[in-house]
Amino acid sequence: MALTVLPHRDELGIGDGRLFIDGEWVEGSGPEPWEHTHPATNESVASFLPARPADVDRAVKAARRRFDDGSWASWKARDRKKLLQRIAELIADNGEELDRIQTLDNGMPLSFASIYQVSHQIAADIFDYHAGWVDRLAGETLPTYTGGDAMYLTLREPVGVVGAVIPWNAPLMLFAQKVAPALAAGCTVVLKPSEYASFVVIRLTELLEEAGVPAGVFNLVLGTGPETGEALITHPGVDKLTFTGSRAVGKRILQAAAEGIKRVSLELGGKSPNIVFPDVDLDSTAASLMGMVSMGLSGQGCVCHTRALVHASIYDEMIDKCAAMAAMCVLGDPFDPATTSGPLINARQLERVTGYIAKGSEEGARLVVGGDRPGGDLAAGNFVNPTLFADVDNDMTIAREEIFGPVLAVIPFSDEDEAIRIANDTDYGLGASVQTSDVKRALRVAKAVRSGTFGINGYTVMPNAPFGGYKTSGLGREGGREGIDPFLETKTVVVALGDSLF
Ligand code: NAD
Repeated sequence: MALTVLPHRDELGIGDGRLFIDGEWVEGSGPEPWEHTHPATNESVASFLPARPADVDRAVKAARRRFDDGSWASWKARDRKKLLQRIAELIADNGEELDRIQTLDNGMPLSFASIYQVSHQIAADIFDYHAGWVDRLAGETLPTYTGGDAMYLTLREPVGVVGAVIPWNAPLMLFAQKVAPALAAGCTVVLKPSEYASFVVIRLTELLEEAGVPAGVFNLVLGTGPETGEALITHPGVDKLTFTGSRAVGKRILQAAAEGIKRVSLELGGKSPNIVFPDVDLDSTAASLMGMVSMGLSGQGCVCHTRALVHASIYDEMIDKCAAMAAMCVLGDPFDPATTSGPLINARQLERVTGYIAKGSEEGARLVVGGDRPGGDLAAGNFVNPTLFADVDNDMTIAREEIFGPVLAVIPFSDEDEAIRIANDTDYGLGASVQTSDVKRALRVAKAVRSGTFGINGYTVMPNAPFGGYKTSGLGREGGREGIDPFLETKTVVVALGDSLF
């Protein structure tokens, strides 16, 4: 029987999507429905009517009203904390269903849904973690600088209405990374998910409603970037933009922020290096090098380490081991527990990735395995086989641009200085790693490489650790203390204790 995901849609009860504005589920007023086609089969799964600018305007005005009337921002810390904890519980309790809807959205193999950074569990933990900030968002008391009878205080206040835009690849985690700190800080939110992963975000919104988030505090607008997204990022009623997605759209978000002098945070793409020294176990290192770009979302992750910098003394052996690892990947039905690797999100991305693979060969890299597409039952989907390029020069296009597909570029180096130079020779700076058993070398390299996160013999993301990019990989951080700061303003209050301050 040909591959189909429709029985899963029916079992999950997924119907057509609606917007959530001011506590009501409403249809978008877009004239044409957006049809969600599944990336593994290109079957039509479900649809929604997109939000037009008038719908976005209503959502922003609802968020604005709720923020400006002060009723949400002034919630007792105890109640706000409990609300965030309740959201965390509901996400955990409904975790299996959320993982399955995510797979119905973006084709991520269910076998991969237990990987922490894309799981429902990290989404629950991010809400739980931010519940812990609610009663700790304190200002300071400052000494008088010039003397005089006065006191200076700082107050931390919510930044206002937040316009959040997220991509399709990790909607559970990224929804939480935007919404949890915003609610913890006392902001109101209008969120636009990717048109390629809306249904899991609809379910998350239902859970927020069930948890008791007041009307107008969280609003969901569905639609495409150019229409719904533009209406949100340019709306004068939005105080802060928070965006995760591509560098190209990130630039547009920055322009819109500049136009309205809005606060802005950007989490963008990467071309992360993984530096491999000879003093490691080669089998497990090859598994993680190739696995990171070929398993799960097939390299469609912002911090996938897509440049492997391998010491010359182990280079040939590592190429052979990575090729063997690629052969172990199982592409197929993302709902089948045996499947390790999913499809590319859409036809445009399929064309882009195959274009980069062609360019790699044209520019002289050696294609070791992959580069082609599976046939049979998988031919109707957007699958590309795990692809390994050896003898890559860091100036080649496949070493410089984010491909967002299952493509590993392996680059040889001869010493630590050269490895650091190649690692830093990029416009990006999201993630990087080193594999070595020499602790001094590991820390030297960690200090020398310019990236927002760095892994030593392993890499993951945690709710309490800041995550974000150097260089063109972004602006600001999510997670940890630095993740909540961008949702706050600081007000300085001067108190004259005597007759006059002057
Ligand atoms: P994308 O930039 O195409 O789209 C992201 C979101 O922006 C979507 O919701 C889209 O509809 C919206 N959008 C597009 N044009 C817009 C506009 N003009 N105005 C407002 N919104 C607009 O990215 P994608 O394909 O969904 O996701 C892949 C990208 O996301 C990759 O570059 C990846 O590296 C990046 N990413 C980064 C992180 C991170 O934390 N740094 C995490 C995940 C993904």
